Amino acid sequence: MLKKGHVVKSVLEGSIAEQLEIEPGDTLLRINGNEIKDVFDYHYYVNDEFLTLLILKSNGEEWELEIEKEYEEDLGIEFDQGLMDQYRSCRNKCIFCFIDQMPKGMRDTLYFKDDDSRLSFLQGNYITLTNMSEEDIDRIILYKLAPINISVHTTNKALRCKMLNNRFAGEALDKIKKLYENGIEMNSQIVLCKGYNDGEELDRSIRDLSGYLPYMRSLSVVPIGLTKYRDDLTQVEKFTKEDAIQVLEQIHGWQDKLKEAYGTRFVFASDEWYITAGLPIPSEEYYEGYGQIENGVGMVRSLLDEVHEYLGELEGNTLTRKLSMATGKLAAPFISELANEVMKKYPNVQAKVYTIENEYFGKDITVAGLLTGQDIIKQLKGKDLGEFLVLPSVLLKNDEDILLDDLTISDLERELEINIRINKEDGRSFVNTIID
Ligand code: SF4
Repeated sequence: MLKKGHVVKSVLEGSIAEQLEIEPGDTLLRINGNEIKDVFDYHYYVNDEFLTLLILKSNGEEWELEIEKEYEEDLGIEFDQGLMDQYRSCRNKCIFCFIDQMPKGMRDTLYFKDDDSRLSFLQGNYITLTNMSEEDIDRIILYKLAPINISVHTTNKALRCKMLNNRFAGEALDKIKKLYENGIEMNSQIVLCKGYNDGEELDRSIRDLSGYLPYMRSLSVVPIGLTKYRDDLTQVEKFTKEDAIQVLEQIHGWQDKLKEAYGTRFVFASDEWYITAGLPIPSEEYYEGYGQIENGVGMVRSLLDEVHEYLGELEGNTLTRKLSMATGKLAAPFISELANEVMKKYPNVQAKVYTIENEYFGKDITVAGLLTGQDIIKQLKGKDLGEFLVLPSVLLKNDEDILLDDLTISDLERELEINIRINKEDGRSFVNTIID
């Protein structure tokens, strides 16, 4: 009979696994007699100080290895499948889904709709809870896995079913209550869609989710991203400047109340709201440790402050250099402001910032992370780019050399006949890519 298990992909140098002569191609069958269903089980069982591993060697031998180690010390094994199981795809068809708004012909992996609780725990992905069984929830509780990041969108059950196009999406909200009752920490997110979950519905969601404080640690509100490929999809209007001002007033009202009652603002608007509203980006203190920065909450403030702080440490000099920087429409004013600060300190540096319009997805998509190589080439070709061009790392997937439309940084360098430097989105990197 075929023995189930998890095939070892690699073994870290100097690790316990290496000392025990576990090798790539071996199969982990059991830990302390337990079958390992997935990465949740593995993390849980591997923490123990005393372990017995059952390993199937590639030559067919079975080895029983006894290990004494520190509690939570890792074995140094990487498996063929990161989750030690199939990735779970989502069961929804959300009216705001970005993947449904992408043109055809992009690489296959970009169309994969993951909604896997294991990725929430491992990588911070936001999940809808719609494809989780009670057993999954029980394991999270038993293993004390936290935080779990949840895409709530609305706490109105009927509206959630409608927005996620899933008749089970409403009842999935009950799992939040169960996690709360068992002390599991969570973060939540709302993608706001005009005429759907805004206004009074947003009030209801903030009220309900703040009721789960302190285990529900925070809530971010981000506007729907609308590409030009929505013809066959539910029509949703774009938020105007006036709308953004109103959303911010509403969120600020809640923040004042919650801060007074619980000592935290709890709900945060993403940077895009402030920029659309034309209102100043709040201070660092306001963001309470930047817990939702991955959702674009406080990214601009963090970058502004880091650059100012780092420039404060530098003497400045007479470095002479001409370069260019390119970014999306949303960040361009801030990037220009920061480039000017660098030029004040280094008066012989000339950094010109180019704003790239997103023609690929449509002009309403303004974030740098969704720019494509072809738009960058088209809009910068023939321009005086100086000695090199700086691009933000958010353009690249997992720090690889490839952009959303499969063009590589080398393709851009060749087409634009320029060297490209990648700025890693922190203040130090921002300054150093210009002056190093
Ligand atoms: S959960 Fe909704 S937004 Fe996320 S991938 Fe699925 S359909 Fe798209």
